[in-house]
Amino acid sequence: MRAGGGTVVVAAPRGADTSYCIEYAKSGRSSCTECSKATANKSLRLGVGYEYKGSPSYKWQHWTCVTDGTIAKIGSPDKLKGLDALQRKDQELVRQRFGGVGKAPRKTGVHTHFG
Ligand SMILES: [Zn+2]
Repeated sequence: MRAGGGTVVVAAPRGADTSYCIEYAKSGRSSCTECSKATANKSLRLGVGYEYKGSPSYKWQHWTCVTDGTIAKIGSPDKLKGLDALQRKDQELVRQRFGGVGKAPRKTGVHTHFG
């Protein structure tokens, strides 16, 4: 099932397009750019693309360390390479995170009395 979207063709001027990916850490050797601690093997982490001496590379951070600002910059979970490869519960987790940014929490139903 594919919901919404459509293909986004990015015409990138001056390499301004940052690429993002999400995956389970393949080793415990990278460290998180937010908290400086290692991203433990198999922990969920976000990769932010950048250029290192002319070649594309990623900076990693724990999914739990990703700030709302970063989420807003990414804009949509569809921008995350590798999302489809995650376990379903983690995909949901990620999508929920995007759903919660830039929107006021919606109240479903009004409680007029308390238990
Ligand atoms: Zn971290």
